[in-house]
Amino acid sequence: MALVVQKYGGTSVGDAERIRAVAEHVAQTLERGDQVVVVVSAMGKFTDELIALAEGIGPDRPPREMDMLLTAGERISMALVSMALGARGVQSASFTGSQAGIITDTDHTKAKILEMRPERIIEALEQGLVPVVAGFQGVSTDRDITTLGRGGSDVTAVALASALKADSCEIYTDVTGVFSADPRVVPSARRLNKISFDEMMEMAATGGRVLMLRSVEFARRHHVPLHVRSSFTWEPGTWIVEEDTTMEEAVVTAITDDVSESKITVAGVPDKPGIAAKLFRALADERVNVDMIVQNTSTLGSADISFTVASTDLKEALRVCNTVATELGAASVESTERIGRVSVVGAGMKSSPGVTAQMFETLTAHGINIEMISTSSIRISCVVDAEKVGEAVRALHTAFGLDA
Ligand code: ASP
Ligand code: MG
Repeated sequence: MALVVQKYGGTSVGDAERIRAVAEHVAQTLERGDQVVVVVSAMGKFTDELIALAEGIGPDRPPREMDMLLTAGERISMALVSMALGARGVQSASFTGSQAGIITDTDHTKAKILEMRPERIIEALEQGLVPVVAGFQGVSTDRDITTLGRGGSDVTAVALASALKADSCEIYTDVTGVFSADPRVVPSARRLNKISFDEMMEMAATGGRVLMLRSVEFARRHHVPLHVRSSFTWEPGTWIVEEDTTMEEAVVTAITDDVSESKITVAGVPDKPGIAAKLFRALADERVNVDMIVQNTSTLGSADISFTVASTDLKEALRVCNTVATELGAASVESTERIGRVSVVGAGMKSSPGVTAQMFETLTAHGINIEMISTSSIRISCVVDAEKVGEAVRALHTAFGLDA
């Protein structure tokens, strides 16, 4: 008997018919002899609709109240799924994140889990019930309701799987797994049967939209095997597991694209120790996450620092930069709101030279200019014109032999 955490995303619980299909699948999993804990997202685009409601009230959106508002979405799903299970003859009970013992810090709208106390979930399992847990939420050490950041139901599922020592965590979505590129951008993209946590983390960090980055980090740290699969076809999808010797180490596994970032350049800063530290400390203090950073070599004692941030943080980042730039005596602060980023990911790249050269040559052949570059041992990313991202991904997918 295995214990499986099954997480159902927004489209998987999008309407009554989908919810009944979920209940049927849970029932069949039980009939196989397994135990199931269900984690649900808000129905369809309900979270976006709740945000729009708040926007209708006015520009001020206190984080504590936003969390109260947004957690309502998952509460609706959990109750409906539990009712659907009942109608299918499966005994179940729904639980909020707080009831499930998910204790977070007090950082509203992007809280981090500090501790898991899933006693009520364990009790429910012992009583033969299927616990249905509202994803994306917890309760803070100040006893306020918090959310875990957009896409956070994945984190709930992985955290529960880890705390309950589940055998696996299934992430049900509207795609059949993780692909070698976004199939909407690259029609010839292939489904990957098995990839490593490291590869999935690089993909999630660079625009792979299937899984939230933090959930993959969490799964890797706690050794929770993930299975990403479709709740429409129910076919086996992509396993995300520890890297092992049985994996064929493709030099390049996937190409990702991302247009969610902006670029800021602080030009003409004095080239002396402590300047970059001041700038990035100020950004960190305002909780702005910085991604790629490039500093050019100085001419006449001053340099330009460029970096990327999430577009949602651009306004805040510019405010900080303008303040710091004045203090530092920088010449100017400029920004590009929408940049494109294309990344090549593959565990086999560690032992295979020439990937960078091939990536640059491919982009050059398509007349695509490279504005910034960053690498890890298993990833190369280039910032390019946002309008050219689709073409760049398709060209690289072909160049690295990934087309189906
Ligand atoms: N409903 C939340 C969101 O849309 C959480 C999730 O779906 O995982 O971000
Ligand atoms: Mg979602």
